[in-house]
Amino acid sequence: MAIRGIIEAPDPYLRTISKPVEGVSDSTRALVADMFETMYAAPGIGLAAIQVGVPERILVIDLQRPDTEAAAEGEEPPVLREPRVFINPEILWESDDVSSYNEGCLSVPELYGDVDRPARVRVKWLDLDGASQEAELDGLMATCFQHEMDHLDGVLFYDHLSKLKRDMIVKKLVKAQKRAA
Ligand SMILES: [Zn+2]
Repeated sequence: MAIRGIIEAPDPYLRTISKPVEGVSDSTRALVADMFETMYAAPGIGLAAIQVGVPERILVIDLQRPDTEAAAEGEEPPVLREPRVFINPEILWESDDVSSYNEGCLSVPELYGDVDRPARVRVKWLDLDGASQEAELDGLMATCFQHEMDHLDGVLFYDHLSKLKRDMIVKKLVKAQKRAA
């Protein structure tokens, strides 16, 4: 396993449309392992393959919620790891009710914006054995899944914001990049 570099906006590579995975192979599984390591190290709760420079339709998500049940009294709860992999994910249905979340992105460091998305989605995908899976997602999982799905079509969370807010974020990103150069 290895930590891979995360591409940061406004790098035009993030606008690439990712291609479906043709057959889940050992190299797919190796990439997924690297994606998890990269996501946990960042740290983040979701990552699309395109963010580490691989234009394939693969997402990893782990909300890493605190495990309050496992916590001893008076102690900080340990983080519950629930790694989820979605290969060739598709949204089959989305709810009319909308949920708003202050989203961030590993490719858009330290900048956030409130994005409205369907509160629940029914999705299908391939797992690491290449088997087809289906589930209904809600809450932060639904938000995160839709955010990561967007990456596969070259869409970033700030594309959903008003032009004013979007321009402000892009300006800050360009400034930060100049400082780093
Ligand atoms: Zn993102």
